[in-house]
Amino acid sequence: MTTDIIIINRNLRIQDNEALFYGSLRSNYIVIYLYDENYWNANGKSSRQLKFSNDCLKELNQDLSEVNSKINIFEGSFDDLKIWIHSNYKDFFIHMNHCTDVGYFRDGFERFKKHFQDKIKIYDDFGLQLDNFDRDTWSRNWNHIMTKEILGSPKVSHYKDKVDLINFECYESKVSCNLKNLNNIQAGGTSVANDLLESFLEHRCEGYRTKMSSPKLSEDTCSRLSPHFTYGSVSIRQVYQQLNKLFPQLKNKKDLYSFKKRLYWHCHFVQKLHTEPELEFKSMHRMCDDLRAEHDDEMIEKWITGKTGFPFLDACMKFLQTYGWINFRMRAMIMSFASYNMWQPWQKTSPLLAKFFTDYEPGIHINQVQMQSGVTGINLPRIYSVAKQSMDQDPNADWIKSLIPELCDFDSESIHTAQLGESYLPQIVNLNDSSKYARDRIWSIRKSKTFKDEAKLVYLRHGSRRKRNFKTN
Ligand SMILES: Cc1cc2nc3c(=O)[nH]c(=O)nc-3n(C[C@H](O)[C@H](O)[C@H](O)COP(=O)(O)OP(=O)(O)OC[C@H]3O[C@@H](n4cnc5c(N)ncnc54)[C@H](O)[C@@H]3O)c2cc1C
Repeated sequence: MTTDIIIINRNLRIQDNEALFYGSLRSNYIVIYLYDENYWNANGKSSRQLKFSNDCLKELNQDLSEVNSKINIFEGSFDDLKIWIHSNYKDFFIHMNHCTDVGYFRDGFERFKKHFQDKIKIYDDFGLQLDNFDRDTWSRNWNHIMTKEILGSPKVSHYKDKVDLINFECYESKVSCNLKNLNNIQAGGTSVANDLLESFLEHRCEGYRTKMSSPKLSEDTCSRLSPHFTYGSVSIRQVYQQLNKLFPQLKNKKDLYSFKKRLYWHCHFVQKLHTEPELEFKSMHRMCDDLRAEHDDEMIEKWITGKTGFPFLDACMKFLQTYGWINFRMRAMIMSFASYNMWQPWQKTSPLLAKFFTDYEPGIHINQVQMQSGVTGINLPRIYSVAKQSMDQDPNADWIKSLIPELCDFDSESIHTAQLGESYLPQIVNLNDSSKYARDRIWSIRKSKTFKDEAKLVYLRHGSRRKRNFKTN
């Protein structure tokens, strides 16, 4: 009888999981998780993301026991797995969920799919157009996918043979020693995701639209579902449908509508990387790659370790390092500072930042990084003022002081303007001069006809056709 081999990667949930559901229909299936150490060291990947993913895997393993199944861990690459499948199975069919990821994953995944061709089925749940991409119909397709029926749990497995792979407990005890000291990052798993969704819809979302800009208030007011979407402990469709179902009886409708738009943005951004994987290393508008030809390792090191001499920026970095998350506006400011004020190529800074994010989703991250660096050609460049953000988001500098206690005795004005003399780190750039330089450089190339012609092509390929979703928060 045919053995269904279900390979899971970033869809770590029991329900609404197409590969698991359809792979289980014959009740003769095994579930394999591919643990590839090189993947976790690839562009922007890090141990905090692995820890979150393991939390999700643990809960999925428990849930699978209810249908007489479990997770088997395969240690190695897609190429190794291919050999293992051939040496262990003659009559088999593979089920996998699609995943838009970094080049290391994509290359292995593509070879794997090509090799098994008619013995593999790939499913998607992000509302992406995997083939026959058409930007004009994208939005309609997305709505269609989001309103599809939610799939239930997989069927009970009657698979009897021994699987020559290690179980989750064995794997966990092997890798967990490298994941200590990460206690402050978000916990993973479907039950945590469900709790977050419930509390967000019921009360946490109050004031979401304004509070999301503050690094302090957003911690509680934003949904905090991002790593759960990245590792699939809940699907976007499940959240979308739950929101729609409860919407009539919920308060804070305007806040929830803003949240709903962002679910769409999520997939819209992932689609861009899927359509053009080169975006991982090349600017969306290729002429922009000539802008920042050189980089300065020492300056980048000061930025990523929170030693720029600008207290608000440094506090944001420290917060991010500790908790693995920070709100959208501060992510944008951090990136804007690196690309405009420090004038560093985003290709050098982006992976360092990504490693700090528990929710690192390459499709969103890389595109947002490019937008905040002014290299897409289709979005207006915006240079964030660190001093203004500091004043607006933390007027009394309490949040900054909680992260940089040595500034406790300073008045807020000196902290916002970074006028702290010898008492704090020297500033690595002059804010006004560097902003002016960046503005001049960016606008000088944007004016040319060649630039504009290329920008039109970029828009046709990637631009949202929903005008109201064209802005970011
Ligand atoms: C430089 C930079 C890098 C980023 N990297 C990532 C990343 O790696 N992974 C990631 O999930 N988000 C990323 N974002 C977008 C955004 O900051 C996060 O999605 C958000 O802060 C996550 O917190 P939340 O789940 O509480 O968001 P909420 O405000 O509750 O939003 C709900 C969901 O909508 C989606 N979303 C929200 N804002 C955006 C946006 N602007 N673009 C696309 N989708 C959005 C996310 O899936 C998010 O979980 C990045 C933004 C910037 C400026």
